[in-house]
Amino acid sequence: MGRRPTSSVLMAGFCATHNRQSTRGRCKPDTRTARLRRTDVVDVRQHRGDDVDLHASRKGTEMTAIGWEDVACNLCGSRRSRHLFTLRDYRFLTDQVDFNVVRCTTCSLVRVDPRPLESDIHRYYHDDFYRGQEDAEEALRFMEPRSMAMAEHVNRYPRGRLLDIGCFRGEFMEHMRAEHGWEVKGVEFSDRPPNHFGLDIFYGDIADAPYPDGTFDVITLWAVLEHVYDPSRMLAQAERFLKPGGVIIIMVPNFNSIQARFMFQDDVPRHLTMFTRGTLGQMLRNNSLRPMDWSCGQELSGGSVRGWLNFVVKRLSGEPMSEILTQNRAADAGGWPEFAGRLNGRPSWLMRQVDALDKWLAPSLDRVLDGLGFGFTMTVHARKPS
Ligand SMILES: [Zn+2]
Repeated sequence: MGRRPTSSVLMAGFCATHNRQSTRGRCKPDTRTARLRRTDVVDVRQHRGDDVDLHASRKGTEMTAIGWEDVACNLCGSRRSRHLFTLRDYRFLTDQVDFNVVRCTTCSLVRVDPRPLESDIHRYYHDDFYRGQEDAEEALRFMEPRSMAMAEHVNRYPRGRLLDIGCFRGEFMEHMRAEHGWEVKGVEFSDRPPNHFGLDIFYGDIADAPYPDGTFDVITLWAVLEHVYDPSRMLAQAERFLKPGGVIIIMVPNFNSIQARFMFQDDVPRHLTMFTRGTLGQMLRNNSLRPMDWSCGQELSGGSVRGWLNFVVKRLSGEPMSEILTQNRAADAGGWPEFAGRLNGRPSWLMRQVDALDKWLAPSLDRVLDGLGFGFTMTVHARKPS
């Protein structure tokens, strides 16, 4: 985190605070290791402005080849798909590997296919991804606005036992415990985030978590499901841990957003599955969970459309998509004027005016898009039948 939540259309401050990767998986179809589409030496591009430090340490770094696997649709099992677009890791510029984003032609779930083996995905989770407040109290304060927004969702239900899957350092758990009196437990897939508050966190695969069936009143997954290798299996596990009548609350990026569909803001390859209301709803129903409330909003994770007009003008002026995306990621690291005030690499009076207009329009546009269900993230509440 530590990024300006309104500085760009990116996932600023969203997944940066959420270490969401499964370290173990039981669904690895058709594993292959020989298929490579990358250079073995990282050729990180030089960038203007504040992002140089962020990436300089990886310049020239030797990296071993990664293994790949083809992926069946996690929702319907089909392998038939249609290619939508190709992206690189524009956020961290880890390498120049191309990742294909495809849509299942049977059920419409969107996924990265092929994808890196789960054993190789770690290279895309940099220290920057885990970067945040090292001091526990500072972290708690920093997360408080978001924790309060999350708490509003959870507190719609009678106080009881809460499980936060992908709990990271436990700030949200601590907030729910200390401020709202919930009995909290957490699951975290990586042992890299510290347990800031000495909470009851299980580190490892959710299938190994030591909870009896029917333990929890509410289970939360904030920006988790898009990262894991088998989201259906994770929902099945969560359903098992829920009491009859219990509720699961899930927030994921919304593939039916301007940012995802037209501005290619998916955090590939850390995001492996891209959901819409239709596909996430079907996955929930397949796991005996009944969706009952959908919403989009800025309060949980930001995700403003801010920057969309800059993006459009740059495209119309002929700037390559890859260049815009690279600049856009740099803007997230503090180089916003460099991104927004330049056109084709040169300072531009026009772009400064465009940026001023964009800044003025974005809040209203956010409200409209969120209200219509096209916001950057979506949150669903689903109930396990009694
Ligand atoms: Zn499918």
